[in-house]
Amino acid sequence: MSEITLTFPDNSERHFEAGTTTLSVAKSLASSLAKKAVAGKLNGTLVDIEQPLTQDGHFQILTSDDDEGQAVLRDTAAFVLGAALKKLHKDIHFGEHEANDDGFYLDTDRAAGQVAVNELPEIKKAMSKVISANQPIERRVVDKTDLLAEFKDDPYQESLINALDAVQIAVYQLGDYVSFGDRALLKSLAPLKHFELLSVAGAYWQGKSSNPMLQRIYGTAFFKAADLEADLKRREEIKERDHRTIGRDLDLFFVDPEVGAGLPYWMPNGATIRRVVERYIIDKEVANGYQHVYTPVLMNLNAYKTSGHWAHYREDMFPPMDMGDGEFLELRPMNCPSHIQIYNHHNRSYRELPIRIAELGMMHRYEKSGALSGLQRVREMTLNDGHTFLAPEQIQDEFKSVLKMMMEVYDDFNITDYTFRLSYRDPANTEKYFDDDEMWNNAQTMLKQAMDDLGLDYYEAEGEAAFYGPKLDVQTKTAMGGEETMSTIQLDFMLPEKFQLTYTGADGQEHRPVMMHRGIVGTMERFTAYLMEMYKGAFPTWLAPVQVEVIPVNLDLHTDYVKSIQKQMAAKGLRVKTDLRNEKMGYKIREAQTQKVPYTLVVGDQELADQTVSVRRYGEKDATHEPLKEFIESVEADVNNYSRT
Ligand code: ATP
Ligand code: ZN
Repeated sequence: MSEITLTFPDNSERHFEAGTTTLSVAKSLASSLAKKAVAGKLNGTLVDIEQPLTQDGHFQILTSDDDEGQAVLRDTAAFVLGAALKKLHKDIHFGEHEANDDGFYLDTDRAAGQVAVNELPEIKKAMSKVISANQPIERRVVDKTDLLAEFKDDPYQESLINALDAVQIAVYQLGDYVSFGDRALLKSLAPLKHFELLSVAGAYWQGKSSNPMLQRIYGTAFFKAADLEADLKRREEIKERDHRTIGRDLDLFFVDPEVGAGLPYWMPNGATIRRVVERYIIDKEVANGYQHVYTPVLMNLNAYKTSGHWAHYREDMFPPMDMGDGEFLELRPMNCPSHIQIYNHHNRSYRELPIRIAELGMMHRYEKSGALSGLQRVREMTLNDGHTFLAPEQIQDEFKSVLKMMMEVYDDFNITDYTFRLSYRDPANTEKYFDDDEMWNNAQTMLKQAMDDLGLDYYEAEGEAAFYGPKLDVQTKTAMGGEETMSTIQLDFMLPEKFQLTYTGADGQEHRPVMMHRGIVGTMERFTAYLMEMYKGAFPTWLAPVQVEVIPVNLDLHTDYVKSIQKQMAAKGLRVKTDLRNEKMGYKIREAQTQKVPYTLVVGDQELADQTVSVRRYGEKDATHEPLKEFIESVEADVNNYSRT
């Protein structure tokens, strides 16, 4: 009998009889390993635990402890899902399936209407039945032509088979259910005890919107009950924190693909939050020496040809509008060329520098439809943008002052969970990066020095600078666990060159300024989404769309007092809602709580007589009694101090 040589992850080599299995190999190493082993991986290809190994190569044993072993369990769950569905619905067809460290899915197509979410419990039961019957899953290897014949009435499977290169294909079968491909499944279904079906969602066949829509069933599975429980809890928390859920529940915004994917509509409550942020940041910038301007969203395409956007950024831009008279107008993807026009409108002197031009600039980017997500990634957005034109020797001070302002802003919004990322050029990549060693080295050293002077931690990313200069990004996390850039400061030596910007120096000569692009709170869209997730919709008073809700004990007796409270508070610029509907008081109080209004006031006879209010803070059980005047003053103070509550 011939021998094979297996090379293990620690690079040790061992020899085995050809035809041995992952299970025997595991047994030969340690019985504890054999107990945990769920599959093998030979030269990158998954193998079943009892599948004969006939080749030399790099070999790894996947166990129930590691992510890949968990994926084997989930892939088996996806297979069992298919088998259970086939038992329930003879006429069902299947599309693609996947299992990974987050769960599994299986695409289905049922002629009699797609699988609905309320069917999941029944399907789960059918899966449990399949599992407890614990019939072995049969594995065989067949010729591609035979498999094609077997699936001749199933266009999805046919096309999946045709996409495979191999002439011999592994097939798995349980009852009437047949699936194929390079997968490893558990030999026994017994470990598949802790699984859950999570959701269903439409998914285009092979991800193309011109293809039919299938129904994707999502699930997950774990080897241990406690792990499943923790995962379900985590998913629940994500859902609760997801700004799309909050946006719907609190009626803040919506995006409707029918009227425009990635084009959000801000409802009054969401618009209020945005307005507060906009006013805040404009005031802050004006106080820090920025001059706010308004410039058009449309610009002659030639400006973007000069700037280099048309050459380097076209994919993200909406197509130009042909005006028919030789003029092409472009929806701007960035505001830089617009602010350059403002700079260039006058002759500039060194005495004016740095010149800081800012705008809440609306821009349009043609983001891929799959990347769009609520307000986090949209196609029309308004950036808290600023461009500073400065002399090279002013870079470091200006960078520090932008950073300082950024930290103040973060502090006012109580944002603490963020990281800095300093992006440099890749010196070897002379094609992408504009070629001036001295400039790059100087600029990078300056940024790094400034960060060190301020005692800030940062991650250095070589090769991630923009083509025109190094940058600092501030990274924040989304509820879904992803990372997004919120703020950015970018140095630019190129646009001033391309647009031939100048200022008159102390020597009377013309000099080239440097540009600094910066966004503090980023786009209104992404920033508001971030706030929604960070506060789980329970905004501090200064940001809350409705700050105070006033409820009468008795509509007949206390309505006038309620209205007077509203009037007095509105006069101070506070946002007060009254609830004068003919509903029970308890119902109104509960609704104010679900809307996460910071203060709910209830007023009855005694409050009217004493000119007091009964105050219930959001999230607190007990109400307190306060003179109306004092209450109004305390809310005003909360707002003025950007108080955390
Ligand atoms: P990303 O890498 O997220 O696509 P970017 O690096 O292209 O962003 P910049 O051109 O630096 O982004 O844009 C400035 C800011 O605009 C970003 O920091 C981010 O806050 C925001 N932003 C960018 N793209 C979008 C979008 N599609 N939707 C909402 N906000 C966005
Ligand atoms: Zn810019």
